[in-house]
Amino acid sequence: MNIAIDGPAGAGKSTIAKILAEKLGMNYIDTGAMYRAITLKAIENNIDFNDVSSLINLVNNTDIKISNGRIYLDSKDVTDKIRTPLVSQKVSKIAAISEIREKMICLQRELAENGNVIMDGRDIGTVVLPNASLKFFITATVEERAKRRFLELKAKGYDVNYDNIKKEILSRDEQDMKRKISPLKLAEDAIVIDTSNKEIEEIIQEILQQHITR
Ligand code: C5P
Repeated sequence: MNIAIDGPAGAGKSTIAKILAEKLGMNYIDTGAMYRAITLKAIENNIDFNDVSSLINLVNNTDIKISNGRIYLDSKDVTDKIRTPLVSQKVSKIAAISEIREKMICLQRELAENGNVIMDGRDIGTVVLPNASLKFFITATVEERAKRRFLELKAKGYDVNYDNIKKEILSRDEQDMKRKISPLKLAEDAIVIDTSNKEIEEIIQEILQQHITR
């Protein structure tokens, strides 16, 4: 079986997906990391983010691999480098390009074809794996999401500002919901979980006890 986990930025999808994968012995695939890796490469190559054909060309010459929770860009481990505020700020622009999405969606489906995958993103339950056995839509208030991102980045040593993070999250959500191809959207058969004011362990127990019967 495959499990799809979608939701807006900072709602707790990846934390939940990672713990569930560990507890259930499944493979965790972070699809946001793929879009982030391409964004990192575009930044490092000084590509203009309005130059769509150069961005498509870049992706056609890029190798992305996911293994044991690490992401490799052209064979280099970029798992930590893709989490910078600059990458977060630019990534939705890359993710809105249809040709790039089509390529990523193909790659994501290949990664899930043997089953036993927990995949998180924005369009997993709606487009990438519409036949997933279980679909969750993880959400939280924008204030809560911005607070979590702020604390996470501060702990990593970034000089961050809460209001700017909130703005960036709102702008990313808007771009993710408005794009033409596979926008951020609630799948009809997804279970909605609001993580505001809840501890992760409580949510994991709720998911395991109420929704997962294996
Ligand atoms: O999940 P994360 O916040 O790392 O995702 C970064 C960005 O990648 C999202 O804001 C979105 O623009 C894009 N994304 C996407 N589709 C996915 C996963 C991520 O468009 N399945």
